[in-house]
Amino acid sequence: MSKLDSFTSFYRLANSLVDDVADSTPVPVGTAPTGGGSVASARLTEIEFKLERLSLITHSLWELLKERHGYTDEELNDWINLTDLKDGRLDGRYKANTPPLNCPKCGRVVGRTQARCIYCGGVASPTQPFDRVG
Ligand SMILES: [Zn+2]
Repeated sequence: MSKLDSFTSFYRLANSLVDDVADSTPVPVGTAPTGGGSVASARLTEIEFKLERLSLITHSLWELLKERHGYTDEELNDWINLTDLKDGRLDGRYKANTPPLNCPKCGRVVGRTQARCIYCGGVASPTQPFDRVG
């Protein structure tokens, strides 16, 4: 498998995980757990699994880059800090500073983390690799 094929496979898997989260029914904030198996609890378990899976993929990709291309942890930390600072704050988080998308069906604003328009259900078309992630 070529490097491009490996990256393409990773990209498709990461995108499918993001789509799974974006397409799922949101659980209202503050929903109280009921009994031993509430919907909120099941969603939390599902999201935790997906986060751990995405973490596994990220770590695997980083190990691949170190082994095959010789990048170092120091270089990664430098890039993480540079990326972190793109929003003006070194706070260990990244918030993309990009304008929202417009729904292709009704034209209303759709957040970049939204897979569908909340007004008409139109499917937002991501234009950047990390649209829908945030
Ligand atoms: Zn719409």
